[in-house]
Amino acid sequence: MPEGHTIHRAALDQRKMLAGKVLTVTSPQGRFSAGAEELSGQTCTAIEAYGKHLLYHFQLGSALHIHLGLYGQFRTAKAPPSEPRGAVRVRLLSDTHVVDINGPNTCEILDQAGLNALTNRIGPDVLREDADPEKAWAKIKASRVSIGQLLMDQSVIAGIGNIYRTEILWRQKLHPKLPGKSLDRTSFNRIWADAVALLQLGVKHNSIITVEKMAKSKSRYRERVNIFAKETCPACRSEIRKFEMAARRVFSCNTCQVPPEI
Ligand SMILES: [Zn+2]
Repeated sequence: MPEGHTIHRAALDQRKMLAGKVLTVTSPQGRFSAGAEELSGQTCTAIEAYGKHLLYHFQLGSALHIHLGLYGQFRTAKAPPSEPRGAVRVRLLSDTHVVDINGPNTCEILDQAGLNALTNRIGPDVLREDADPEKAWAKIKASRVSIGQLLMDQSVIAGIGNIYRTEILWRQKLHPKLPGKSLDRTSFNRIWADAVALLQLGVKHNSIITVEKMAKSKSRYRERVNIFAKETCPACRSEIRKFEMAARRVFSCNTCQVPPEI
């Protein structure tokens, strides 16, 4: 599952390829033919990310809404386009570039009411300048649910996925099982600030990097993390604990992150 930085990076990259241009929209696979026909020939006015959702705005006021889900992917190339690879749900073609979207979880056209409904159900996105952290704080401080789960709940706070959740809590010395209502305001402020900084770095490098000293990686896309899927804590050498939380793997160092008394 891509985390929020991937989608913001896609928005940034695709903006240069498609925004301000008249697009030819098709559905080579055929499952989005009617939608493609409705959008084709219009100017794409803007592309923006909201959490893990990508929105392509079009001149007549509607927007193409994409959520990749677990298996979806973007493929970008320079025009002229080659034959579609695999089941391409949507192909967006400008005079210079082509963007193919395969296997998205959500692919639909939204009108203004639909857009409002979507943005209202998404929590503040740590990568958006208009994000209001107070909205996330209000939900977290009122919740008995663990902070580990709350950070993954896109209606509470948007953009953080499993790796960032694990890493941010370790960096802030907070155990994932701590209930939201037990979190103090200072700790929340630190979580928010760390999430903003780390995800911005993720957009810049198109990769998850949560370590302070960034060793040179041979692969451009290799994640550089502290405890996610690791055996030993880099700070204290204790064993990293692994457990499930809402069906997702989470890791903690029970020395650096003292478990709450339950
Ligand atoms: Zn440790």
